[in-house]
Amino acid sequence: MASTSTSTRAPIMEVFASIQGEGAYAGQAQVFLRLAGCPLRCEWCDTPSSWSVDEERSARVATAEGTKRYSAWANPFQAATWVAACEPRDARTVSVTGGEPLMWPEFLLGLPDMLAGRRLHLETAAAHPEALKRVAPVFDHLSLDLKLPEDMGEVVPIGVDGVHDEPSPRTPEDWTRVRREVLAIAADRDACAKIVIRSDRPLSAYLPLLEDLERLAPNVPLYLTPVSPIGGVGAPDPGFLEDLVEEARDLHLDVRVIPQLHRVLSIP
Ligand code: SF4
Repeated sequence: MASTSTSTRAPIMEVFASIQGEGAYAGQAQVFLRLAGCPLRCEWCDTPSSWSVDEERSARVATAEGTKRYSAWANPFQAATWVAACEPRDARTVSVTGGEPLMWPEFLLGLPDMLAGRRLHLETAAAHPEALKRVAPVFDHLSLDLKLPEDMGEVVPIGVDGVHDEPSPRTPEDWTRVRREVLAIAADRDACAKIVIRSDRPLSAYLPLLEDLERLAPNVPLYLTPVSPIGGVGAPDPGFLEDLVEEARDLHLDVRVIPQLHRVLSIP
């Protein structure tokens, strides 16, 4: 079994208030706490600047008085003060995103005590079930990306002290295993599953993901997200989406199609 760091610090990339663009709470005003560091390489990643971690990195904190920059490495208390500084009015739900937040489980476990009174949501690539199992109880909502193995490039270890060292999935078999483990953790919780859909994959590529969701977490709603075109990866045509929706409906899944609202609205 992988060992886990006991460091409560994590590298913060940015903290800002905005509108949730994806998943079950799309459209809701939230504060986003984006952690840096991701060992995965989705071909359609829209935040590659979140991948690396180094000591020179700074955190962008978009407060009501303007954008400020601080040393990125922060403990939950420091992060909570930045969240409070970014809330325009009353306390908002806080979405912890990345990067891959599960790289910093001790930091995540320290957040609830510092963010009392706010709902806490986790947005994760759902590739590290050991970490997810540990931190899931402190989150009010889990937003899980289900990845097509074909969409994933080579794993690049983050390689800094303090990072969670659970191995990342590399093969299609690894991805099947972690998908099933994270769905079992999310079943019967406040959670959603998201799948990014692109134009150049056959319908059959997505079916194992739908079938695992139906078998392991049938009450978890499914959000199909047409990829926001990037790096030569294009969005599917409406007919393809309709066919995929019917496949999901045949499995009695609660399925919706939502584009990335923050892209449509040109907001962070
Ligand atoms: S898991 Fe998220 S941050 Fe990492 S490569 Fe994929 S989309 Fe980008």
